[in-house]
Amino acid sequence: PVVTRFAPSPTGFLHIGGARTALFNWLYACHTGGKMLLRIEDTDRQRSTDAATAAILDGLTWLGLNWDGEPVSQFARAERHREVAEELVAKGEAYYCYASPEELDAMREKARAEGRPPRYDGRWRDRDPSEAPAGVKPVIRIKAPQDGETVVEDKVQGTVRFPNKDLDDFIILRSDGTPTYMHAVVVDDHDMGVTHIIRGDDHLTNAARQTIIYKAMCWDVPVMGHIPLIHGADGAKLSKRHGALGVEAYRAMGYLPSALRNYLARLGWSHGDDEVMSDEDMIRWFDISDVNKGAARFDFQKLEALNGVHMRQMADDRLFAAILDTLPYLEGGNDLLTKLDDRRRAQFLAALPGLKERAKTLVELVDGASFLFAERPLPLDERSGELLNTDARQLLAEIAPVLQNVSDWTLVNIEEAVREFAERTDRKLGKVAQPLRAALTGRTTSPGIFDVLSVLGREESLARIRDQAA
Ligand code: GLU
Repeated sequence: PVVTRFAPSPTGFLHIGGARTALFNWLYACHTGGKMLLRIEDTDRQRSTDAATAAILDGLTWLGLNWDGEPVSQFARAERHREVAEELVAKGEAYYCYASPEELDAMREKARAEGRPPRYDGRWRDRDPSEAPAGVKPVIRIKAPQDGETVVEDKVQGTVRFPNKDLDDFIILRSDGTPTYMHAVVVDDHDMGVTHIIRGDDHLTNAARQTIIYKAMCWDVPVMGHIPLIHGADGAKLSKRHGALGVEAYRAMGYLPSALRNYLARLGWSHGDDEVMSDEDMIRWFDISDVNKGAARFDFQKLEALNGVHMRQMADDRLFAAILDTLPYLEGGNDLLTKLDDRRRAQFLAALPGLKERAKTLVELVDGASFLFAERPLPLDERSGELLNTDARQLLAEIAPVLQNVSDWTLVNIEEAVREFAERTDRKLGKVAQPLRAALTGRTTSPGIFDVLSVLGREESLARIRDQAA
């Protein structure tokens, strides 16, 4: 069975690139009926924080990317990393190196002078440990092959060859007994039973070094897929302006998790011309080998458009639940939540079909609903204030008694009354709707005017109209 994993370093939020890596692992695990494990790579004690771990778990949960089992802490496994390093020494696949900082500096200096990348020269590789200088704590280095090449068979990048002369005897255990990142990842992936490693292609060179450790331990090398990084819409490296933000920023911008999953999946992977996909579609169709080699470009407009589609496709009660989940993260959202009594809940739900036609994000949708929460007398925005001139206020005074007479306050009856009024007074419907909209919502755009009247109810509608009538 397939076992994938997502292995973030808890040094910050779950950023959008990490979220896509997690998504691909999740999709592949779901596609194959396997598992996705979560490992928190917290070996860097200086930079790792509990707050970042919490933010990553929260981001994954919000995005709906559930993992199997308990998250594994890499730091907690330090003893095991040391054990494997020592086993490699015992097997003759690794060795203690006592080179001093001065010696290493000299090697670096020499490389710089010769214009080549720095490389450890292997001076302790074949030396007898009895020659060890007293009082020096050694590091452990892997005995990397010196000839030939290390080959990574990558599902995305194809066959990638690394000449072994470029890969030196790198450190697997530091002199203080802590593992290097390179080593810890291999031991953990092996012990966790990981069969497929899907991660950013910034780890491709690491894959070669990690392969050397696998081979030295005679462990199976997992299948690998190194996915290209995300670039901005202009092709440049992703910056904040381009969308290099934490997923919580996307939540606060009012995107639905389902839309973000759909959008991120399409960043670097495609299935024919399909743009709008459900989880079921993506799970059925996703395969690592279909991920593109070229960098994907992040495009906010596409994300917005997809989000609009997902909002409109969603059943109203589920969309409403998503709004409630999102409100605490929106500006002024908590205030709205406290105002959301049973009556307003019912009004909001009733207004949703009209609201979601006009919004691309939950932020826009909630904004469109603000007329429901407004206190009388309504504040008018600039344009609606201008619209409500003397004539318009006169019209409001005329139409108030007409609406007062609608005994059964249904959409059909309201519409009939307003249309009759427009005909009788020889006005176009729009000319009647405009002042009504301004009075009822304080704005010049809103859901359909009959919807607004119906959702607000007769009493509140009439009160708002009379507030503005001449
Ligand atoms: N912890 C690494 C990162 O955050 C990922 C390591 C891996 O996937 O092997 O980039």
